[in-house]
Amino acid sequence: MVWTNWAGNVTDEAQVRRPRTPEAVAELVRSAADDGRRIRPVGSGHSFTAIARADDLRLDLAHLSGIVSADRGTGRVRVLAGTPLRVLNQALDLLGLAMPNLGDIDAQTVAGATSTGTHGTGVALAGLSAGIVGLRLVTADGSQRWVDESDPELFGAARVGLGALGVITEVELACIPAYRLRAVERPDSLDEVLPRIQEHFDAHRHFEMYWFPGTRRVQTKANDLVADDVHEPLAPWRRRLDDELLSNTVFGAANRLLTRTPRAVLPFNAIAARALTERSYTAPSHEVFVTPRTVRFVESEYAVPREAVTDVLTDLVAWVERRREPISFPVEVRVAAPDDMWLSTGYERANAYIAVHQYHRGDHRAYFAAFEEIVAAHAGRPHWGKLHTLDAGQLAGLYPRHADFVALRDRLDPDRVLTNDYLDRVLGA
Ligand SMILES: Cc1cc2nc3c(=O)[nH]c(=O)nc-3n(C[C@H](O)[C@H](O)[C@H](O)COP(=O)(O)OP(=O)(O)OC[C@H]3O[C@@H](n4cnc5c(N)ncnc54)[C@H](O)[C@@H]3O)c2cc1C
Repeated sequence: MVWTNWAGNVTDEAQVRRPRTPEAVAELVRSAADDGRRIRPVGSGHSFTAIARADDLRLDLAHLSGIVSADRGTGRVRVLAGTPLRVLNQALDLLGLAMPNLGDIDAQTVAGATSTGTHGTGVALAGLSAGIVGLRLVTADGSQRWVDESDPELFGAARVGLGALGVITEVELACIPAYRLRAVERPDSLDEVLPRIQEHFDAHRHFEMYWFPGTRRVQTKANDLVADDVHEPLAPWRRRLDDELLSNTVFGAANRLLTRTPRAVLPFNAIAARALTERSYTAPSHEVFVTPRTVRFVESEYAVPREAVTDVLTDLVAWVERRREPISFPVEVRVAAPDDMWLSTGYERANAYIAVHQYHRGDHRAYFAAFEEIVAAHAGRPHWGKLHTLDAGQLAGLYPRHADFVALRDRLDPDRVLTNDYLDRVLGA
């Protein structure tokens, strides 16, 4: 069976194992080690990099899904590692709880999302892994251990562990009481928003901006808390029109046509950006964060120090204006709080996140290469699950605890039972 990631740019033909219990995971890892084989855990395949690619055995944790225990009082929720975020969000909703923040989709698994440092936007909010208070890890020799702050080294490393330190079977999350958000989405001009973007970041619980390449137009999205009794929902027809029809169905059809006429892409962006309208609504937090994404694309995303965001955007805009590359997807700009996880993009640094996308059938190479060159001048740290070309030597200069992580990996997986080509590149063979 050929496995492929969501974007379709990574495939493998590994043999699949589908354990039903944490004990079965431990047994599979132990026997892989004994037989000199390599085994790789996989979530829902939503990474754009080959981080989840297996070249021998793939450990599919789809059966390890569901809530193990929940304490409404403390907000502590234990969940099996293969639980998709969408299932988690629904379960939390029923418990009157919620994740403090989310990214813009909910298809990832809990362990997959946290292992690559998945994040949302919000100046006071770190990535999803920062909400982990403990996790159960099966290491390469098949032994199981509970990892929490009582073991600061392993806890510092394993929350964003890239699947390199062991297989996570269970995660305990610090959740908060369920909350509602008011989303205000507004078309604006780059020249208005970019000079004041730090103020926008600071003014809202969540703020993000989308810039449409080839134009000076942006769409901003600000989400803020509202009281539980404020119900101003989006009309169902409006949600279907904006989120399903325009953002996915029409956008997908336009992209298919535009691959044949690349010169029409930037003029198309100008029309698409002008068609955007303002909208405001309230909803439970997870419904506001998550949007349907049915048009396939590839993506690269880098974290840069917050204050560098204007320079990066200015250089990127100038590059697109000069080159007139056919880029049909908007550039996404977000923000997050610093944290203490060794391989987190947010390690001891408040970041802005800039993400570039290209239609999966389009050519992303020149665009992403130019983007990497721009962010390199600002000590950009790549998202582990999104396309980048950096290797262990370069990453060691960007992540202060990279060498410590590599040393820990040497201790926990000296025979490289859990590795793959991507990990060999970013951590060393
Ligand atoms: C449409 C789309 C939207 C996205 N939006 C965002 C966003 O808003 N913010 C953001 O930061 N990212 C975003 N991403 C990236 C995505 O969140 C990450 O790539 C995430 O890692 C994918 O989770 P997954 O479950 O598919 O994991 P996979 O891609 O399958 O695996 C990712 C890593 O996790 C490891 N892993 C999986 N399960 C385990 C386990 N049980 N134990 C140990 N390691 C494990 C794998 O070995 C691999 O190293 C998006 C991706 C797509 C395709």
